[in-house]
Amino acid sequence: MPWLGEPSNPSSLHSEGRKARGAVDKSRETVASLLGCLFGEIHFTSSGTEAANLAIIGTALANQDKTRNRVVLGAAEHHCVLHTKSWLEKLGYQVTLVRTNQFAQILPEAYSESMGDDVLLASVMQANNELGTWNDLDTLNEVAKSHGSLFHTDCVQTFPFCGTVEELGVDLLSASSHKVYGPPGAGVLYIRAGTKISPTIVGGGQEREMRAGTENVSSIVGFATAARWCADNENLKQHKKLVRDKFAARLLSGGFIATVDVEVRTLPGHFHCRLPGVDAETVLIALDRRGVSASSGAACSSGSLEPSHVLRACGYSHEESREGLRFTFGKDTLTEDAMLAAEIALETAHEIMIKR
Ligand code: PLP
Repeated sequence: MPWLGEPSNPSSLHSEGRKARGAVDKSRETVASLLGCLFGEIHFTSSGTEAANLAIIGTALANQDKTRNRVVLGAAEHHCVLHTKSWLEKLGYQVTLVRTNQFAQILPEAYSESMGDDVLLASVMQANNELGTWNDLDTLNEVAKSHGSLFHTDCVQTFPFCGTVEELGVDLLSASSHKVYGPPGAGVLYIRAGTKISPTIVGGGQEREMRAGTENVSSIVGFATAARWCADNENLKQHKKLVRDKFAARLLSGGFIATVDVEVRTLPGHFHCRLPGVDAETVLIALDRRGVSASSGAACSSGSLEPSHVLRACGYSHEESREGLRFTFGKDTLTEDAMLAAEIALETAHEIMIKR
């Protein structure tokens, strides 16, 4: 909060500038310690989207000699990863999308078949933002290493509980402030020291020449503070899971179908389901009128009528891919509020079904 009102350009030599530099450095130290990496390997960006774009497009730009001319992306990645495809193709790279199982998890066999010594970079998310399911990064990264390929992982949904970069063994990792209760306007890209990567925004040389533009000090400080808070509050996960499980059990008793089997590992606060035959849009509008905020696909595209590309990747039909409902539970969600939301959802489903 104090940084919102401060004049704060960390590149300025005057005392306010030096104070701002100190605050950004301290935040960099915090994020580096959470990821178990070096201070200089942390690069702040404006968002998770920008971090993933920099990881993928920056790597492609820096390796234009094309000794490796292919990039491998998971088919159920967030659009900030998937939509780099057209850029990569413009830069002359081939892009291979890897199939997933019905829970949006990369199929190791399909991935192994897609990989080869011509692959510059593979990018697979740690956990899917729609279904909440986790990928087996260890296996996928091992395959990438065996081909000498770089590996980027989108940890926007899992940071700061993603593990250290040493445990993960990745070259590039992206995360975002507003997913850890920090303010919007900050993201981070971990770049393993020595990785060949070019900036995608040039100018004043900030962030070790990797991302030009005056740093968003208040958002960066807020990001690091919030991430540390999450990491220090392990019971956060138990709380979310408890509320989620109670909510899910109630919904499943009333016609909603869970998309993910119970034994599959999911993000603790995510519940994804469908009301078969009913467009998500219809349910979401009715829920919103009654004060329940839920979502279909990724939040950034929930205003559109497009079927979920994640559900499409899971093998659902065009129609079924419009039925996905995502309920998420956070640190402030009370069990009684979640249970009230469940009753509202059941009533809403009942009314929609009667009208059909
Ligand atoms: N990756 C995943 C898995 C996400 O869930 C999101 C946002 O929802 C992003 C990337 C994009 O992050 P940001 O909103 O910070 O651009």
